[in-house]
Amino acid sequence: MEYYSFNQYLRDTFGTKVYKIALDGGFTCPNRDGTLGTRGCIFCSGRGSGEFAQPSELSITEQLEQGKQRVAAKINESGKYIAYFQAFTNTYAPVEHLRKLYMEALEMPDVAAVSIATRPDCLPEEVLDLLEELNHIKPVWVELGLQTIHERTADYIRRGYPLTVYDQAVQALRAREIEVITHVILGLPGETEQDMLATVDYVGKSGVQGIKLQLLHVIEGTDLAEEYRQGVFSCMTLEEYVDLVCRAIALLPENMVIHRMTGDGDKKTLIAPLWSADKKRVLNALNKRLRES
Ligand code: SF4
Repeated sequence: MEYYSFNQYLRDTFGTKVYKIALDGGFTCPNRDGTLGTRGCIFCSGRGSGEFAQPSELSITEQLEQGKQRVAAKINESGKYIAYFQAFTNTYAPVEHLRKLYMEALEMPDVAAVSIATRPDCLPEEVLDLLEELNHIKPVWVELGLQTIHERTADYIRRGYPLTVYDQAVQALRAREIEVITHVILGLPGETEQDMLATVDYVGKSGVQGIKLQLLHVIEGTDLAEEYRQGVFSCMTLEEYVDLVCRAIALLPENMVIHRMTGDGDKKTLIAPLWSADKKRVLNALNKRLRES
């Protein structure tokens, strides 16, 4: 089965190797700071999905330099970079503070684009205007954590906003010609395969340019881990996951960029499914099945 991989998209867009560097801008999240809640989403580790980000005490420039050194240790060629504001909710701050952080990344000559992970309910007009302005300097992408279209699951995971908010955010971003990547979690408790495929189908039709398919990770210290230990739900097998991802990709438009097909969690705190810790094996299994489909 043909699909548009993130690597191919980067080559098509920038004509060179591009590496993503995860950053921690020192943000928090309305689901953690008491605005919507204090316990966060049920699966969130409390580090705001930023397990691989650089420490936030460092400036954005320092974090990017550190990230570049790590990449340079692995490769023998020079490339460009995507500054990925990953940890917590990366538009959740006064707009002038956001401007300073984003500009610091954009001004680095070898930064080709900035990717900003956030919640769709954290995109007020002034932030949208800022993103639009910066998108004229270098590409600015926004990554929206949707996870599911089903309200009962959204309540269960304590996402904190309804689907209509996602629709409005996509509309507002696209009206400003900002590329949108939607995050979806496969394997959320209580969801059938049909539910998950309905979410992927919805995202495919929602007008966004990219999707991240992430396997649900049960991480130590989360409320989800407690539920898992109590036997409230079980996790998919590798075979089931591979099967599901192939079906999901078949639903997406040909030009939709698949940014990710599995998770990228911290192995030290992963409780389940343990097979997901071997990312190479998972990707090999996925690519093999996709070639055969
Ligand atoms: S919105 Fe993101 S950072 Fe906030 S609690 Fe949920 S997963 Fe964690």
